[in-house]
Amino acid sequence: MGLTVAIVGSGPGGFYSAAALIKEIPDCRVDIIDRLPTPFGLIRAGVAPDHQSSKKIAKIFERTAQAPQVRFLGNVEVPRDVSIAELRGLYDAVVLATGAPKDRRLGIPGEDLVGVYGSSEFVGWYNAHPDFKELAPDLSTGTAVVIGAGNVALDVARLLAKTGEEVRATDMAHYAADAIDVAPLADIHVFARRGPLQAAFTHKEVKEFGELDNAVTLVDPAVLPGEDVALEDKGRGSQEKNIGYLREYARNKGDEKPVRIHLQFYAMPVAVLGEGKVSAIRMERTRLTEDGKVVATGETFEVPCNIVVACIGTQSMPLDNVAYDERNQRFQNQDGKIEDGLYVAGWAKRGPSGTIATNFPDGSQVAEYAKALVPDAFKQGPAGLDQLLADREVRVVTFEDWKRIEAAEEAGASHGAPRRKFTTIPDMLGSLG
Ligand code: NAP
Repeated sequence: MGLTVAIVGSGPGGFYSAAALIKEIPDCRVDIIDRLPTPFGLIRAGVAPDHQSSKKIAKIFERTAQAPQVRFLGNVEVPRDVSIAELRGLYDAVVLATGAPKDRRLGIPGEDLVGVYGSSEFVGWYNAHPDFKELAPDLSTGTAVVIGAGNVALDVARLLAKTGEEVRATDMAHYAADAIDVAPLADIHVFARRGPLQAAFTHKEVKEFGELDNAVTLVDPAVLPGEDVALEDKGRGSQEKNIGYLREYARNKGDEKPVRIHLQFYAMPVAVLGEGKVSAIRMERTRLTEDGKVVATGETFEVPCNIVVACIGTQSMPLDNVAYDERNQRFQNQDGKIEDGLYVAGWAKRGPSGTIATNFPDGSQVAEYAKALVPDAFKQGPAGLDQLLADREVRVVTFEDWKRIEAAEEAGASHGAPRRKFTTIPDMLGSLG
C-alpha cells in the first residue's frame, strides 16, 4: 500500500506540500482538508482583490488538486469533524498548513473599542471570508488610520482610497465595494513606527500609491534620507526604489485629488480614544537608536478618526493539543517536523513573512520527511476518512464541487470583476443544489 498523507489547510503551504509529495512519491495519496468549502487559503482571502495577478498561482494549485493522487475535502473542520489524533490514526503522515490567521494585538489602551480592527479581520471582511462577513466596519468617516508599514497596511490603505468603480472591477466582497464606494473618506493616515529605510513594504506596492484615480499620497520630505545616503537595492526589499517613490510623493500637493493618503514615519500608537467607539488615536513620536531600536520621545499628538486598522502582523493558532510554541506563536517544530509522522509547513511553521512562493521550500521539506516513511507505510488513509466523515454526516465539498461554486461565482460577476464571491458557507453549499 502507498504512503497516505493528510494535509490540514489548503493555502500555499498545503498545496506546495501536496505538489512536492506527488512529485517525490508518485504512488502516495494525499488528502487536503480545509474547513471552508473554498480552497487556496490566503490566495482567496488574503491577497488584495485588486492584485489578481498574484492569484494566478491558484491555476497551478488546481493542477495539483486534479492529480489522481490528490483529493480536496472542503467544509471539513479539524477538530470539529475529525481530530488530529484520528487523522494520525488514519494516515501515515499529517501535515499542518493552517497559516497564521490570528491578529496580533497592539497592547495599548482602547484597542477593544468599536472601530478598531486587526488586519486579518479587516482583510477577511473585504475579501468575503465567511468568518468576517458581519464585521460591517463603519466607513462613514472622514479619516481612517492604518497602523504598520508592511504590505498589508498598504493593501488596506490603497483599497480604502479607491473609488467604487475601481473596487467593483475586483473580486472584493460586494458589500465591501458598496461601503467603500459611498465612504466619505478624505484622509487616510498610515503610521510606521520606524523610518522609511526600515519599512517592511516593498517597492511594487509603494509604486501603486502614485497610480490611484482618486487619491494623492503625501510624505513629509523631512523624514526622507538625504541624496548622500547610500541605499540598498536588494530586489523586492529595495530601499533605493522605495525611497525613489517616497521622494515623488513628497513633492505632491494635498489638493490634487479628493482623498489624501498620508504615509507617516516615526510614530507609534499609544492609546485609542473614545467612549465605546473610537473617536481618535493618540500617537507618540519615535526615534531610532543606533542599532535600529524604536524609542519613544514623549511627544504625542492625536488624530481624530472613526476607524483604526492595525496591520501589525498575525500569528498561527494552536490546534487540537499539538505542541505549540507560545513565544514564537507557531507550532513547536524542528525544520518542519513536530514529531515522527506530524509535520508543519508554511506560515504555521515559520510565521507570517515573505511572498506566496516563500512557502515552496516547506513543501519540498515535507516530501523529504515523507520519503523516509514510505517503507513502513500501512495506513488506509482516504477510505477510512470517508467512512468517518460519512458516519458524522459531514457534507464534504470535493474539488469538483468547488469548481461548480467557482463557476457560479464567475457567472454572477459584473462591472468587469472576475467573480462575485459568495460570502457565507450556506450560500456556497446552496449553489451546489
Ligand atoms: P509585516 O510585513 O511583518 O509588517 C508589519 C508592520 O507592522 C511593520 O511595519 C511593523 O513595524 C509594524 N508593527 C508591528 N508591531 C507594531 C506595533 N506594536 N505598533 C506599530 N507597528 C507595529 O506584516 P504584514 O504587512 O502583515 O505582511 C505579512 C507578510 O505578507 C509580509 O511578508 C508581506 O510582505 C507579505 N505580503 C505581501 C504582499 C505582496 O507581495 N503584495 C501583500 C500582503 C502581504 P516594524 O517593522 O517596526 O516591526
